Amino acid sequence: MITKIFSTTEDDLREAGRILKNGGLVAFPTETVYGLGADALNPEAAKKVYLAKGRPSDNPMIVHIQERGEIYSLTDTVSDDVKVLMESFWPGPLTIIVKAKDIIPRVTTGGLSTVAVRMPSSEIARKVIRYSGCPIAAPSANLSGKPSPTKGSHCVDDMNGRIDGIILGPDCEVGIESTVIDMTGDSPEILRPGIITREEISLALNKEVKYDRALFEKPGEDFSPKAPGMKYKHYAPKAEMILFKGEKDKVRQAISLREKEETEKGKKVSVILFDDNRTAAHDLFMKLRQCDLDGTDLILCEALTEEGLGFSVMNRMLKSASYNVVEI
Ligand code: AMP
Ligand code: MG
Repeated sequence: MITKIFSTTEDDLREAGRILKNGGLVAFPTETVYGLGADALNPEAAKKVYLAKGRPSDNPMIVHIQERGEIYSLTDTVSDDVKVLMESFWPGPLTIIVKAKDIIPRVTTGGLSTVAVRMPSSEIARKVIRYSGCPIAAPSANLSGKPSPTKGSHCVDDMNGRIDGIILGPDCEVGIESTVIDMTGDSPEILRPGIITREEISLALNKEVKYDRALFEKPGEDFSPKAPGMKYKHYAPKAEMILFKGEKDKVRQAISLREKEETEKGKKVSVILFDDNRTAAHDLFMKLRQCDLDGTDLILCEALTEEGLGFSVMNRMLKSASYNVVEI
C-alpha cells in the first residue's frame, strides 16, 4: 500500500477527512500523541486499525469527537459529573468512559459495552474529524508495543506502507497519552494517568477520584487493569532500560558510574535525565525512539518523583524499562 503524506493545509485535511469517511486509515497529530484514525462506526475500518498496529483485538480504542455535543451520538448516559468533566477539560487530554450506544461496533470498543470518548484540543485533529463527518476511533499511531509517536516522522517510521495517509503536523505538545477516567462505576476512577491529574479532576468534581488499583501493581498473573490496554507490553525501546530511583545527587552519581563501566565493556549507553515533569512527558517517547535509531544497547534513566504528572510519566517509564528499577 502506498501511504500518502499530507501537510496541514485545508485541502490536505479535507482529503484526509474524505479518506476516513470512505473507510481508510489516516494518522494525524493531536496534542497528546499522534493518533491512527478510522471511522469509529464502520467495523471494517476499525478492524483495519488493529491489523495496521498489530494491536490485540480486545484493546478498545478511544473515539474522538470535534464538538462536545457529539458525545450524545455515542452514549445515552451523560451524567452531571460527565458534563462537568466535559466543561472543565474539553477540548483537551481527558478521555471519558461512558456506556456505549448500540450503533458503536464492538470491534471499536474491544467487545466492551462501554466507550472511551475524547474531544482533542488540537485544531488539526478537530478539523480532520470535522471533514470526515464521523466520530474517529484513534489509538496511538505506533506499532503495538513501541513508544507512542510524538512526531510525524515517528508515524512514518512505523506506519509507512501500512495505512492510507499520514498528516505531518507539529510535534505533540503534551507527549504522553490522555488521562482515561471511567465514569460508569459508583465513583470516578482513573484507569490511565496523564497530564490532567487526579487532583485537578477531584477539584472539578468536588469529590474523591480513585486510581484503578492495577496502576500500583506490577503486571503478573493476577494483574487485570480495567483499561485492557494497560496490560500489554508497552513503550518498549529495543535496548535494555534501567530506572534509577532515589536521592537526586546519588542517582546521578550512580548513573555516571554505571555509564562508565558499561561503556568500557563496549556497550553503547544512553543516559536520560529530566529536570522537570513537563519536559519529561514531552520528550520521553521521542528519546526512547532516538535510542532505537542510534543503536543504543543500554538506557540509564533517572526516575521521577511519583506525584502529579510525575506519577503519569513514571507509569510509562516503568513499562518501558519492564519494571527494571535500581533503588539507590
Ligand atoms: P490508546 O488508544 O493506545 O491511547 O489506548 C487507549 C487506552 O484506553 C487503552 O489502555 C484502552 O484499554 C483504554 N480504553 C479504551 N476504551 C476503554 C473502555 N471502554 N473501557 C476501559 N478502557 C478503555
Ligand atoms: Mg497506544
